[in-house]
Amino acid sequence: MVCRNCGGMLLEDEISVNIKLIGRGEDGYFCIDCLSGVLKCHRKNIEDLIDRFRKAGCPMFPER
Ligand SMILES: [Zn+2]
Repeated sequence: MVCRNCGGMLLEDEISVNIKLIGRGEDGYFCIDCLSGVLKCHRKNIEDLIDRFRKAGCPMFPER
């Protein structure tokens, strides 16, 4: 799957965090860089959020 905005390859974590933050997208998902633009935050915020979900044991963010 690729980013709906820039066409970059999406990682599993990126798809999962899209679903968490903006819901299941019929039109596809954003990479972290584009998602941070959509949400008007820094990509570091989103990476921290992924870390937090993983540490909390969320099944959408399995340990790698
Ligand atoms: Zn993108």
